[in-house]
Amino acid sequence: MNIVLLGAPGAGKGTQAQRIKDEFGIPQISTGDMLRAAVAAGTPVGLEAKGFMDKGALVPDEVVVAIVAERLQQEDCAKGWMLDGFPRTEAQAVALDETIQKSGLAPIDAVVYLKVSEEVVLDRLSGRRVCPNTECGGTYHVRNMPPKKEGICDKCGTALIHRKDDQPETVKDRLATYEKSTSGLVGRYKDAGLLIEVVSEGDPADVGKVISEELRKKAS
Ligand code: AMP
Repeated sequence: MNIVLLGAPGAGKGTQAQRIKDEFGIPQISTGDMLRAAVAAGTPVGLEAKGFMDKGALVPDEVVVAIVAERLQQEDCAKGWMLDGFPRTEAQAVALDETIQKSGLAPIDAVVYLKVSEEVVLDRLSGRRVCPNTECGGTYHVRNMPPKKEGICDKCGTALIHRKDDQPETVKDRLATYEKSTSGLVGRYKDAGLLIEVVSEGDPADVGKVISEELRKKAS
């Protein structure tokens, strides 16, 4: 299955992506994770992206589109893929369609739109703690989803961090960016008959069950 995850920062994309990845056996392609890895490694892409990311702004379309186009060519995407945090602009959505066509890849099967109120987003991001190990991607919440040992990733034992762009001032800018640049994509994918809309509040396991049922319907 080829899946796109859509939703505001803090909507639960990362959490649900982990479940979908395990259930459908497809790789999670998170542009946020790839960009953070590029920043940590100090690559040219990372150096260009850092300033935008720190401000809560979007990294230029051409940079992100190139990363995704290259990633989709890799062998592990042959049986399906899941994009997490891409596309985030109309131009990226158009570029994704073009990449799929030009490369002879199978089209998008479903776009999972995680719907969430601003109040919930603010609570989630202020309490979110993530594993900085780019190969792990563990994500927790100090109250709703704490790790077994405080401040330590259950999966790989790395000390968890509170992302710089999860601080309140930057979160406001990220939400404004989402409204301005990304929220319009919901209509695009609804019109294309691909949208699965799920309220992403309450227990993540329950939200995961709804997503799984809807995806299975699309797959059959
Ligand atoms: P995320 O982890 O998905 O919240 O992404 C963190 C940051 O990476 C965003 O605030 C942007 O600065 C950048 N980023 C991630 N994905 C994209 C994208 N598709 N287009 C532009 N910038 C992105």
